[in-house]
Amino acid sequence: MNHYDVVVVGAGIGGLTCGARLSALGYKVAVFDQHYLPGGYATNFQRKGYTFDAALHGVGGLGQGQGFYQILQASGVMRHIQPLLKEYPYSFRWKGEKFDVPQDADAYLAQLERRFPEEKDGIARLFAEIRRLSAEMKFLNDPGIPGWKKALGFLAKCPTLVQWSKLTTAQAIGRHVKSAEFMNFFTVLWPYYGLPPQQLSALYFFIPWLGYHLEGTYYIQGGAQAFSDALVYVIEQNGGKLHLRQEVAEILIHGKKACGIRTQKGQEFTADWVVSNASPEHTLGPLIHHHPRAEKYRKRLGQHEIGPSLTQLYIGLSCHPEELGIVDEDILLVEETDHQTDYDNATQGKYAAANLGLTNYNKMDPALNRHDRGVLTVTMIDDIANWPERGEAYTQKKQEVTAILLQRLESYYPGIKKRIAMLELGTPRTMERYTKNPRGAVYGFAQTVNQSGIKRTARKTPFAGLSLVGAWTQPGGGFQGAANSGFLEAQRIHKMLGKNRG
Ligand SMILES: Cc1cc2nc3c(=O)[nH]c(=O)nc-3n(C[C@H](O)[C@H](O)[C@H](O)COP(=O)(O)OP(=O)(O)OC[C@H]3O[C@@H](n4cnc5c(N)ncnc54)[C@H](O)[C@@H]3O)c2cc1C
Repeated sequence: MNHYDVVVVGAGIGGLTCGARLSALGYKVAVFDQHYLPGGYATNFQRKGYTFDAALHGVGGLGQGQGFYQILQASGVMRHIQPLLKEYPYSFRWKGEKFDVPQDADAYLAQLERRFPEEKDGIARLFAEIRRLSAEMKFLNDPGIPGWKKALGFLAKCPTLVQWSKLTTAQAIGRHVKSAEFMNFFTVLWPYYGLPPQQLSALYFFIPWLGYHLEGTYYIQGGAQAFSDALVYVIEQNGGKLHLRQEVAEILIHGKKACGIRTQKGQEFTADWVVSNASPEHTLGPLIHHHPRAEKYRKRLGQHEIGPSLTQLYIGLSCHPEELGIVDEDILLVEETDHQTDYDNATQGKYAAANLGLTNYNKMDPALNRHDRGVLTVTMIDDIANWPERGEAYTQKKQEVTAILLQRLESYYPGIKKRIAMLELGTPRTMERYTKNPRGAVYGFAQTVNQSGIKRTARKTPFAGLSLVGAWTQPGGGFQGAANSGFLEAQRIHKMLGKNRG
């Protein structure tokens, strides 16, 4: 019989982590994905002998005992992946100079104080507050402290967290340092979170910051696919199954409870619990055939702001990147130093003006490709509205944008155009097609103050036995955010199903 304890719709990081944790706890899990690869955004692809990582640039907290490490350890995955510590979290070009941002927070503080001597006291106060946030997060993540103690002590023990949950990143920084130049310099990594500091929730900037500067920034050997494959391995080793090229057409609802799924090919699978890694809009809409119980919920969702997408140019070189002077792992090529203006440029499709990120995979993981085959990506924030849906107009626009990006790259690294052996442009339409995420959003709902923390979409739904996981839900987007959502939901499901089984 086609029955599983838990069925997961979507093999993105949220769905796979939820599945891996439940599998490690002894549940029989089946995961279904429409794509021919597991991972959602977290995949690799091969072209002309080159291996490209579709998404991963960096992630924090993978050192022994750190936040992300602990989740993956508890899900049985840590021993199947190899984190590679990056030399720097990121580098950036700023007004003609290059900066390498140190992993070490003290070294970073010293760098900032040298650059902004007149703001020294404010910067020191900002760093002191960041360290308080770090202590508060340690309290909340300490597995040795019972949940009730954390809940009771939350307000007294976590004042920075409480305050910053109500502030944008710019507001949190502005409490200590007034200089706009400092604010832009310090938040240059904002595209990683999808919104400029004036809109981005302070917590969604600073919590990853703790990972980068107090714990370390990592790439994963073998790329995003190696990570997704490790999650699948744990599921399968524990008797679960991954069904690829299997789009889920319907989540079966009996009364007010989810009880299984039907695939596009017409096969039915029953389950005690259904977890959806598809977007909330897709899950609570077409997948439950617009059930009246979900309509109010969906109406509320319709008022949410969707986060941006990305355009990424995948480049295969006929030489090692170092031959062209590309020596950084990850570098932001900043032309526009005002982030709000840059965000507007990017979302309005000003490809000749918007800032670019350049990632050098040969440096992050020398084993991913042969030494003489350089692999780079150029990344920028984008909006799906800038792209025709399909056909000739879409193809032509892809060519135009590719040409613009290459010309800009040539101005930074003369000679690069001659060494290009392979090019592929991923647009917001590509992101949407491979994941079914509305507008090709890469971090789910925009990570604004009103859509973050406890205000972010809950993983619980109006239906018993139906959960949401992934970037759209609490706690948020990115590899770590999506994995966290899956892990936390697995814990809740275990409590519910374990309890029901007596
Ligand atoms: C170019 C790029 C670079 C990035 N860089 C980084 C980075 O360096 N660090 C970082 O932390 N994050 C990065 N991210 C963001 C990160 O990849 C995502 O936030 C995260 O992977 C989202 O995971 P998710 O769990 O929400 O699932 P998603 O990746 O959104 O996957 C959802 C899955 O559900 C499947 N699905 C949907 N509907 C159905 C259905 N009906 N039936 C079957 N399957 C279905 C889809 O096929 C897909 O596989 C990047 C993203 C991109 C695109």
